[in-house]
Amino acid sequence: MKILKYLCRGILKTLQAKSIRTALSVVVTVLPISAYASEPLHSLNAVERQKNQLAIQYEYTKDNPITSNKSIVFNKIAQNIYLAKYYGANAGLVVGKHGLLLIESKGMLEEGAQKLLAAVRKISDKPIKYVINTHSHFDHSGGNAFFAQKGAIVIAQENYRFTPIAHHLRFDKKLTLTMGSEEIVAYHAPSHTLDSTIIHLPSSNVIFMGDNFSSSWLLYEGANGGSGYRKTMKLALSLTDSKTIVVPGHGELSHVDGLIKNDKAKSAFRKKIGQLFAKGWTVKQISENQAAQDILKNYQGVKNDGSPIHLKKIQDIIDANFIEPIVISKAIQNRYVGQYKMISGKIVEIVKVDGKLIARMEGSFIAQLKAMSTTRFDLVGFPYTQGETIEFTDNRVDNTLALTIKIPESFVMNYWLEEGTGIKIK
Ligand SMILES: [Zn+2]
Repeated sequence: MKILKYLCRGILKTLQAKSIRTALSVVVTVLPISAYASEPLHSLNAVERQKNQLAIQYEYTKDNPITSNKSIVFNKIAQNIYLAKYYGANAGLVVGKHGLLLIESKGMLEEGAQKLLAAVRKISDKPIKYVINTHSHFDHSGGNAFFAQKGAIVIAQENYRFTPIAHHLRFDKKLTLTMGSEEIVAYHAPSHTLDSTIIHLPSSNVIFMGDNFSSSWLLYEGANGGSGYRKTMKLALSLTDSKTIVVPGHGELSHVDGLIKNDKAKSAFRKKIGQLFAKGWTVKQISENQAAQDILKNYQGVKNDGSPIHLKKIQDIIDANFIEPIVISKAIQNRYVGQYKMISGKIVEIVKVDGKLIARMEGSFIAQLKAMSTTRFDLVGFPYTQGETIEFTDNRVDNTLALTIKIPESFVMNYWLEEGTGIKIK
């Protein structure tokens, strides 16, 4: 019965996917490993996918650094702390006695980082000693390489190891830095992304939530769904009080009551989507539901404009929370764990963390694997659901095991994800 339910949901999901993805290939043909190796799976190359990424960033921010004449301006929010908005993500500046710390480095185009630097120089001519991001999405981290070239040390959460984002130092759970009278404490909070952090400045009672909070959400749900957000909220509430200045990843400054209100609305929206999905509604139907839209009403910048990005955010919420993975045996899971050498020579690792299978490649990607069958897994943990999969081909005759990463053709923004086949080497 459970399997039947899953299959029905799987078919439903495929149908929904078809309605929002123009050219998603759902046909899985079993080929010998040698055939996989010579077969290009996908027509978009890395440059084209990077263009998609930029297009999405523009669609999201409505603020194109190339054409916009707007400059970036830092405004004071506490004694030594400044905030700059525009160009997508909010950025923070901490002024210490001998140097500066930048929270976020803005978009992936150098123009954005240059404008951010010009804004910094209007506040202080001290050296930018450190850059830290709330997470690896490009609208927050895209200028890291630019500031590294200018001499800053870029600090990142441990999972940045599996991203293409420039950084020098990594921390796992928690990091504390001091800049003059200001203490900066970063906590790993894997909700919006697996490398998300929240950054607390206790002396000034300010907290940077990154995209775990946006006054203009919907933002990407993340692989851990509602349970990830509950843990992050618990942590944030343990660090804050009614006077704390809460800086969202995007949108206007807020306080703890705004954070709680946002979280409640997000939970209600998630719940409503779950109810409608359980009734068999499509993503488009869910997006048009009046009760679901009413929950979004109080939030600036969120409207059901029917855009692909809005629909994908709903699909993300469904994937992270309401698609039950099928249960596969520990023996099969353990057989998949190991290292696979791709045609490029790079290594994809399958590891088990907290009982969950994770796929990762250094300098490239990290994602949770959600079982769709005993051999096929959805990659969860990317910005926006796109139907990327990993499929294992187990050849018991010559005892070889291969994995194939497949990327659907449309709306691909993760240009760093490498597609193709790898053979297990250990
Ligand atoms: Zn983000």
